[in-house]
Amino acid sequence: MTELLTAPKLSFDNGGEFIRDTRREVEAYLACRRTRVRGRLNLYAKSFVAFGLMLASWAVLMFGSHELWTGLLAFAGLILGTTLTAFCVMHDANHGAYFRTRRFNHLLGWTADSLLGLSSYAWRVKHNVAHHTYTNVEGYDADITQTPMARFMPVQPSRPWYRLQHFYIWPLYSLMALRWQTLGDVAALRRGRIGQSAIRMPRRWDLVGLLAGKIVFVCWAIVVPLLFYPWWAVLAGYLVFSMVMSLIMAVTFQLAHCVEEADFASPEQLSQQKRLWAVHEVEATVDFCPRNPVLTWMLGGLNYQIEHHLFPRVPHTHYARIAEIVERNAARHGVRYAVQPSLLAALGSHYRHLRAMGRAGLRVEVEMG
Ligand SMILES: [Zn+2]
Repeated sequence: MTELLTAPKLSFDNGGEFIRDTRREVEAYLACRRTRVRGRLNLYAKSFVAFGLMLASWAVLMFGSHELWTGLLAFAGLILGTTLTAFCVMHDANHGAYFRTRRFNHLLGWTADSLLGLSSYAWRVKHNVAHHTYTNVEGYDADITQTPMARFMPVQPSRPWYRLQHFYIWPLYSLMALRWQTLGDVAALRRGRIGQSAIRMPRRWDLVGLLAGKIVFVCWAIVVPLLFYPWWAVLAGYLVFSMVMSLIMAVTFQLAHCVEEADFASPEQLSQQKRLWAVHEVEATVDFCPRNPVLTWMLGGLNYQIEHHLFPRVPHTHYARIAEIVERNAARHGVRYAVQPSLLAALGSHYRHLRAMGRAGLRVEVEMG
């Protein structure tokens, strides 16, 4: 709590010509009713596929023939369905992009609790507030602050073990979901903050949602499987399920921010010089594989994270079109807009960034662009 009180208060300038012009064009694009309806129908269709795949795979695993190949196929389907739910349903809903009303968005966002085992209440603070407001700001963005396990940005202190972080980071990524499924939520609530963003103890419906979500998740992921499989098979299945889902989610988010092309900042730099929020978001984020419709579909548009950070309440099914507008305006206003052409290029950049951050022996000050 002391840290929260002494942390510098950071604020951005929410204006600027770049975001004004971009917003005007995006609003004109979304003014067409047919465009909006098409975007929502695509979103609903994806949700249907994600839930359907998850439910069908789970039903085969529980009530099917239990043959090895059928089981493995259904298990892969369960992981795929869960990941699609995370990227294409839960993420949009918790941002308020799925429905018009907050209540329905929170209700669908509860898929985080019930299907993924992650508290949507904590997610909205960790992701919507800490990560989206203070993207790549040391100590404020919990995604990019993993001291003392890893060093993701130049302003963070060095440790000898970070020299190997480009090797050991992958298993750590795979354990992140497990951490939030078990004690991560409770620890954050007891601490009263995530990064430097305050999180209150949930009350009334928030508390009901959190507890009910944990119960539903434990029931379908552990209790019911124990009726059909030995305990060690359930434990192994749960660990593999959680770790694969975690690895895919963590890497997808890291490829947009924890790469050579992204900007990073310390709280001191931001308190000395007030930045334009939209410019900060674009320059702290990198798109990847923009012309890969399959990947765009599967990642819920998270390969277009620049557009997501500027317009988090717009359904992700519009990002590919919005990207043309953002890129054009970025070029016009001198804002650096970075895109990786392929998944391999994005992974390579993340790997090289981790290696460089691990090897740097001294604390280095980055210049903000
Ligand atoms: Zn988001």
